[in-house]
Amino acid sequence: MNASQFEAAGLADIYEKVAAEERLSFEDGVRLFRSRHIGLVGKLAHLVRQRKNGNRAYYVRNQHINFTNVCSKRCRFCSFYAKKDGPEAYTLTMEEVEHRIRQFAHLPITEIHMVAGVHPKLPYTYYTDLLDTVKRTRPDAIIKAFTMIELEQIQKVSEMPLEETIQDLKAHGLGALPGGGVEVLSKRIHQELFGRKMDGEGWLNIARVAHGQGLKSNASLLYGHLETDEERVDHFIQLRELQDETGGFLCFIPLAFHAERTELEGIPPTTGNLDLRMIAVSRLMLDNFPHIKSFWIMIGPVMAQLALRYGADDIDGTIMEYEITREKIEQTHQELSRDQLADLIREAGCEAVERDSFYNPVRELALV
Ligand code: SF4
Repeated sequence: MNASQFEAAGLADIYEKVAAEERLSFEDGVRLFRSRHIGLVGKLAHLVRQRKNGNRAYYVRNQHINFTNVCSKRCRFCSFYAKKDGPEAYTLTMEEVEHRIRQFAHLPITEIHMVAGVHPKLPYTYYTDLLDTVKRTRPDAIIKAFTMIELEQIQKVSEMPLEETIQDLKAHGLGALPGGGVEVLSKRIHQELFGRKMDGEGWLNIARVAHGQGLKSNASLLYGHLETDEERVDHFIQLRELQDETGGFLCFIPLAFHAERTELEGIPPTTGNLDLRMIAVSRLMLDNFPHIKSFWIMIGPVMAQLALRYGADDIDGTIMEYEITREKIEQTHQELSRDQLADLIREAGCEAVERDSFYNPVRELALV
């Protein structure tokens, strides 16, 4: 890499820190967001990505199940939730959950990913029955389920301390946590967009306890709405500090905001520049996170592929059904085959590695 390019772009000091594997500061992060030289920011992030993960890019064969859209939190950015007795409200029965899993029984899926609304009336046994049903129907798959926000509600209805609730959920088959739900670790954004939901401090506390109880999780950031560059960088630093403490985060996932069917309709979609920059700056700031994911369902397969050269080393999975973001209410089927995912990765010049939920290789496909 040519140091003079970074000199000319005013990024020489950051380049030197990255080359020396030194931690970047808050000010460095803000400068990376504001630099006009996105290509150079991407090169720095790619250097870190190569250092941590070589030329590998991961994907997973997974199935998503969003088991209820009933939610009492009414976040202003959310297009998914429904009021309990509204016309769009649904809560899957155990028979329906089993049916959804059996539909894909012929595929070697290794992960069942379940998140949902915060239903105020579901009893604790709903969650344990849910885990039991998935485990019984698909015993070979790892169950990754429940955001920290859902865990708060589950703990409430379990009437047990959080540690005991988590141990009980693990006994029923919970294997890992998806890690979303906090959106942005910022008091201002919390007040403006999701005041009914737990704040950042609460989210970090639940993550800390869950990691302490042996559950690995991811973390995410919802970007492209009201947040500032400073709030994004502060979010990274708060996650980085918790990771120093627990080591429980596997992957960070920037989530592009989609305004359709939300109270914030009118906010334009994220740009390619911002999508790539989020990947690159997160890779550079989150020096203790093993993996950065470009989630194809949020930014599209084309940007997800490009992001593999801007710091990402994972493009998520086959998905099947996804109801959290969609433009039309009836549009839930979103799927890429294993071959399509592997082709996207290989075309980007990377080695495609099918992984399980913990990044253990399931299958490696050579570069062609
Ligand atoms: S983001 Fe989650 S908690 Fe907020 S309204 Fe939507 S489903 Fe409910």
